[in-house]
Amino acid sequence: MTIEELLVYGKQHIHSDHAKILLAELINKNPLELLTCLNETVDIKTAQLYKKEVLALESGKPLQYVLGNVNFYGNKFYINENVLIPRFETEELVENTIKLINELFTEPVDIIDLGTGSGVIGLTLEKKVSTKTVDLIDIDKKALEVTHKNCELLNSKANIIESDFLSNIPNKKYDVIISNPPYIKDNEEIEDIVKNNEPHIALYAGVDGLDCYEKILREVKDYMKEKCLIAFEIGYTQSEDVIKLANKYLDNIKISVKKDLSDKDRMLFIIRDL
Ligand code: GLN
Repeated sequence: MTIEELLVYGKQHIHSDHAKILLAELINKNPLELLTCLNETVDIKTAQLYKKEVLALESGKPLQYVLGNVNFYGNKFYINENVLIPRFETEELVENTIKLINELFTEPVDIIDLGTGSGVIGLTLEKKVSTKTVDLIDIDKKALEVTHKNCELLNSKANIIESDFLSNIPNKKYDVIISNPPYIKDNEEIEDIVKNNEPHIALYAGVDGLDCYEKILREVKDYMKEKCLIAFEIGYTQSEDVIKLANKYLDNIKISVKKDLSDKDRMLFIIRDL
């Protein structure tokens, strides 16, 4: 079939932009380029795969899972249904954390990313700041397969460890402890496309959505170097509660909350400098 015929097929089922994006990805072209080669033939296997993807998208599967990759802070990451789709807000967390690391540390840092999923946070930090070690942690074996694949894609030297946050981590001290943990309340209404497709283990965190912050903060003291930055993504209503938890388990800390581009509290930074 030709590119034109496939695009016509796609448009009958999904938005024409999506039809272009899916086809372009499969034949390694830029979506805007397709119109210049409408008569080119696409091999039968690729055409079949394209049609399958069009129908998957039509049936409500998120575009990122159908494509199998996302761009996060300038790098392409592999993803599938076993990991959360990375969000813009998480890019903001990474951006602000990079700034803070550069302000606070002059030597290469030891970083741990708790609940790493696809690995976007830890692997991006490894690329953007000077690191000694990067440890990527997740409780979920299937998610860790995705982490592993992304380590290979990005030529990373990071260590991948299966653990329920810090519970299985050997005694080691870190300069930077970062996490975008699950933070949705168990009974909170969320969009169907999220609820029906993304892994619930990566989304929900108890009746108040705070279980993971408490789990991390309860154990974190032993893993902090004297000077240490903890960076969390948080739900926009959770800043006060997470501040309370931080003060319950840690002394001599300074806490700051930062809003995302939608003007909602989204990041919480804890700095200890003994
Ligand atoms: N750390 C990953 C991300 O930010 C996964 C987060 C999660 O599964 N809660 O995308």
